[in-house]
This record gives sequence, structure tokens and C-alpha cells, in this order.
Amino acid sequence: MHTASLNLTTAPLTAAAALRVGGLTRLTSIDYPGELAAVIFCQGCAWRCRYCHNQDLLDSDAEARISWLETMEFLSQRRDLLDAVVFSGGEPTIQQALAAAMFEVRSLGFKIGLHTNGAYPERLQRLLPLLDWVGLDIKAFSTEYTDITAVTDSGRAAWQSLSVLLNSSVALEVRTTLMPHWTPAQIAALAHHLADLGVTNYSLQACDTSHALDSQLPRSTHSLTELVAEIETTRFTRFTTRGF
Ligand code: SF4
Repeated sequence: MHTASLNLTTAPLTAAAALRVGGLTRLTSIDYPGELAAVIFCQGCAWRCRYCHNQDLLDSDAEARISWLETMEFLSQRRDLLDAVVFSGGEPTIQQALAAAMFEVRSLGFKIGLHTNGAYPERLQRLLPLLDWVGLDIKAFSTEYTDITAVTDSGRAAWQSLSVLLNSSVALEVRTTLMPHWTPAQIAALAHHLADLGVTNYSLQACDTSHALDSQLPRSTHSLTELVAEIETTRFTRFTTRGF
């Protein structure tokens, strides 16, 4: 049984204390497959995806809304109730304090999950020993990234991160949010390329344009039935859809 909790007045400041936390989901069963988890939303992202709806988390200079000590106090009280903690964002790997924060959370006995856009493959490589599961966004083929993220070379980084993860033993889910104008054939081509590379766990996410960064982004008209008919889903051990 784990019953001790942190004492906020006496706990020493650590490298992890620099992590700027923008929000916290205290309990979720959908953010780490098969586990009850909390989600720590990290502040900051260098990309500006047209469909992004986490706009409060994009500013990399924003102050923390929840201190690291408060976050650890909460987690230390939930050790018997939660299995895992997911670091999400924004983009967690933009923050240098992430590894120290993961180390501290892992020391409490939690599995560690990461939601990432893959913008920093070298940092991701260094984080591997701390990770149990990663949800990696592969937004498109590499050459199509800039149209989505508004950042040159973002696709090269994301696909390099995919290689890092496929060459590791960390459990991986690849996710793609569907741009509204994509055809089922385009989506199937991306899915099949990922399967060719060895992705076994793939998720397609509907594009929610209601709170999108780009207010001109048209509403999505994808039919789930049409999509799934075009994709050879049996090439994946696990194929899921969200938001349709
Ligand atoms: S990667 Fe794109 S969708 Fe994700 S937080 Fe950054 S801007 Fe938003």
C-alpha cells in the first residue's frame, strides 16, 4: 500500500520543478490504452496545426498553471487508484524538465505514457528508458506536413521520431487526424505506408474544426464506412477510430 503523500512545505525543489504544467486530467480511461491514468498537460508547442484546439497550451513562455509540487502531491495521493501518468500537451518534449519529471513520476510506481508530435527525435531517443507507451502523431506524409503545421521540416522530424520508436521496445500507437479535404484513397495510402514500416497499432481521428486554430478550415465530411472500406485494417493488430 502506498499511503504517504508529499509535504509541499518541506519537499526540495528538483529539476522537475521547472516543468510548466498547463492542466491536469485527474482520471481517464482513454488516454493510455487499457490503464487508468492521469494526464499532465505540458505548456508549449512550436507548431501551429490548422486543426489545433489546444490553443491555451501553445505559448512556450507561459507560466505554469499548476506547480510541479502540487502535481506530485496529487499523484502521490493516487498511487493506489491510478496505473499510469500520461504527459501530453502542447508538446511535452519541448520542455527540458520533462525527463526529470518523468523520472519522479516513475519513482512513484506509475507507468509513463507520452503524447507527442515527434518534433524532437533526439530528445525522444533519450527519453526511451523512461517510457512505457507513446501515442505519436503522424499527421501526413512528410512532404505534406508544412501545410498542416506551418513549420518547415516538421515532417522530417516526425517521421524520424517514428523510426526511433519503431526501433525501440516502447509500446506505440500512431495517430493521424484527418484533414477535411483528404480522400479515402489518400488516407489509405498513408495507413498502408505506416503498416509497411511496421506500425501495428494505428488510430484515425476525426478532425474537429469547431475550435480549430484556422477558423477557415472547412468542416469534415468523411464517412467512417467509406474510410474503413478503403483501408486494409487487418494489416494492423489494433486499428481504432476516434471522434467519428
Ligand atoms: S502539434 Fe499541432 S495539434 Fe498538437 S499541440 Fe502543437 S499545434 Fe496543437
